Amino acid sequence: MTPTAGPHAGPYAGTGRLDAARRTLELQALGDDPRIDLLVVGGGVTGAGVALDAASRGLRTVLVEARDLAFGTSRWSSKLVHGGLRYLASGQIKVARESAVERGVLMTRTAPHLIRALPQLVPLLPDLLRPGQAALIRTGFHAGDALRLTAGTPGALLPRVRRIDADRTRRLVPGVRTDGLRGSLVAHDGQLVDDARLVVALARTAAQYGATVLTRVRAEQVDGTSARLVDTLTGRELAVRAGAVVNATGVWAGEVDTSIKLRPSRGTHLLVDAEALGHPTAALTVPVPGSTSRFVFALPQQLGRVAIGLTDEDAPGPIPDEPQPTEAERSFLLDTVNAALATALTGADVRGAYAGLRPLIDTGDGSTADISREHAVLESPSGVITVVGGKLTTYRRMAEDAVDTAVRLRGLPARACWTARLPLIGAPGHGDSRPLPAGAGAVGQVPASLLARHGGAAHEVLAAGELTPIAEGLDVTRAEIAHAVSHEGALDAADVLDRRTRIGLVAQDADRAREAVEEIVAQCLGEVRGG
Ligand SMILES: Cc1cc2nc3c(=O)[nH]c(=O)nc-3n(C[C@H](O)[C@H](O)[C@H](O)COP(=O)(O)OP(=O)(O)OC[C@H]3O[C@@H](n4cnc5c(N)ncnc54)[C@H](O)[C@@H]3O)c2cc1C
Repeated sequence: MTPTAGPHAGPYAGTGRLDAARRTLELQALGDDPRIDLLVVGGGVTGAGVALDAASRGLRTVLVEARDLAFGTSRWSSKLVHGGLRYLASGQIKVARESAVERGVLMTRTAPHLIRALPQLVPLLPDLLRPGQAALIRTGFHAGDALRLTAGTPGALLPRVRRIDADRTRRLVPGVRTDGLRGSLVAHDGQLVDDARLVVALARTAAQYGATVLTRVRAEQVDGTSARLVDTLTGRELAVRAGAVVNATGVWAGEVDTSIKLRPSRGTHLLVDAEALGHPTAALTVPVPGSTSRFVFALPQQLGRVAIGLTDEDAPGPIPDEPQPTEAERSFLLDTVNAALATALTGADVRGAYAGLRPLIDTGDGSTADISREHAVLESPSGVITVVGGKLTTYRRMAEDAVDTAVRLRGLPARACWTARLPLIGAPGHGDSRPLPAGAGAVGQVPASLLARHGGAAHEVLAAGELTPIAEGLDVTRAEIAHAVSHEGALDAADVLDRRTRIGLVAQDADRAREAVEEIVAQCLGEVRGG
C-alpha cells in the first residue's frame, strides 16, 4: 500500500517531511476543519506507533505532543529490543512471547536499519555467581533461544547461545576482571542505535501515511470524542471532534484521564567513556547480589559511551518533566558493575546520567520490579481509550490493540492492521529508502555513525548540509543538525541536542556543540519558514 494524502497535509501530502512550516499549515487546516477519526495524545513510541497504525489503515489521524517527539520515557530507555528473557524468568510467558515476536518484526522488516545484534555476556567469575547460578543463567539463555526460534527470528540475525573462553571474553569486553575468569556465557538481543530515533522514524512514517503530527500542542479537557488543543508556542486554542481519542501519554496518562492509576518506577543509567572499559563491543551483564533475576548491564552506545543501568525504584508523587537519578542509584550501579571490572569505576568516570519513569499499571503492593510489563488498553467512563504499560519493543502490538479497540467501540472506517509489514522511513523496502546518490561517494566516505542513525534515509541528510562534525570529537555532522530541522520536526536547539541527536546526554558535549547547533537551527528554521 502506498502513502495516501492526509487531510491537512497540503503540499506535504505523501511525504514524511516534518518541519515548522508543515506544523503551521496543519494547525491552520485543523482549525478550519476539526473533525477527524482519531486523536492520539502523546508523541512517545506508543503514540507515534498508534498514529502510524491508524493512518496506515486509512483513518484521519492527528497526533498531538505537548513538548517534543520522544520527550518522555521513550528517550530514557536501555535502548534494547528485548526478546523477553527477563519476563520468562518471572513467569510472564505472554509478554515474553510478544516481545520475541515484536523484536523479530523490528529487526527483520520494520526498522532493521536502526537495530543491531548485541552480544550480551555474563562473565564466569566464581565470586560473582552464587552456586548453581551459572547453570540457571544458561538454562534461561537457552529458553530465550527457544523463544527466538518460535518467533521465527533467524540465528543468522541473532546468533545462538554459546560459551566462550576467557581470551574471547577479554576481546569483547577488554575491561573485564580476569582473575579467576573462566570465560563467559553469551546470548544476543537487539540494540537500537537510539530510542528517540525510533520514535522520530515512526512519526515521520505516520505523517507520510497522512497523519497530522503536531508537537508543542497540549491536549486538555480530553474526553471520548473531543479535546481542547493548546498550541504552547502561541497560546492559540482549538477544539477537535474525533471518532475516538487514544491517550498514549505514558506516565502522564492519569493526568489526561483521572480514572487511570499508575505506579511509576524510576530506572537510572550512568554514562561513562567507552575507553574506561577498553571500548567494549558486547554488553557486560553483572548479576545483582541477592537476586536471581536482576542484572546490571554495561551497554556500548553511540558517541563513544557505555551506559550502565539500570535501577527499578518506586517513584510516587507528581511526574517531573525530567526525572533525576539519586545518589543511592549511582552508588548501586557503580558498586554492582565494579564487581566484574579489572579497574573499578569511580564517580569521576561518570560523564552523564539519566533516569526515566516506567508507566506501570498500579496493581497494589509489592516491588515495582515485580509488576507485570504487560500492556493494557482501557476505556474510561469518559470514553477515552488509554494504552499504557508494555515496552518500547512491543509498541507496535500496543498500537494495533489500541486502534482495534477504537475501531470496535466506535465503528471507525478502518482497514486491517498491516504495520508488521510496513518498513519505517530509512528501512530497506521503504519506498523512499535509497542507496547513496552518485557523487556522495562510497559508503566508506559517509560516516558509519550517520548510516547507523539514518539507514536508507541518509541521502536526505547528505543533501541537507556538510559532513563535517558539529564539534571536535563528536561524530554528529552539521548535515544531521540541518536535517533534524528540515525533515524531523525539530523546532529549536534543545530538540536537536536532546532528542534528534543525543549529544545532550553529556552536558560537556552539549556545551561544546551548542553554539554551532543554534546557528544551524536558526538558519534552517529561517529557510523552512521562508518556504
Ligand atoms: C529506565 C528505563 C529503561 C527501559 N528500557 C527499555 C528497553 O531497553 N527496551 C524496551 O523495550 N523498553 C524499555 N523501557 C520501557 C519503555 O521505555 C517504555 O515502555 C516506553 O518508552 C513508554 O513509551 P510511551 O510512548 O508510552 O510514553 P512516553 O515516551 O513517556 O510518551 C508520552 C508522551 O506524552 C506526552 N504528553 C503527556 N501529556 C500530554 C498532553 N496532555 N498532551 C499531549 N502530549 C502529552 C509527553 O510529553 C510524552 O512525550 C524502559 C523504561 C525505562 C523507564
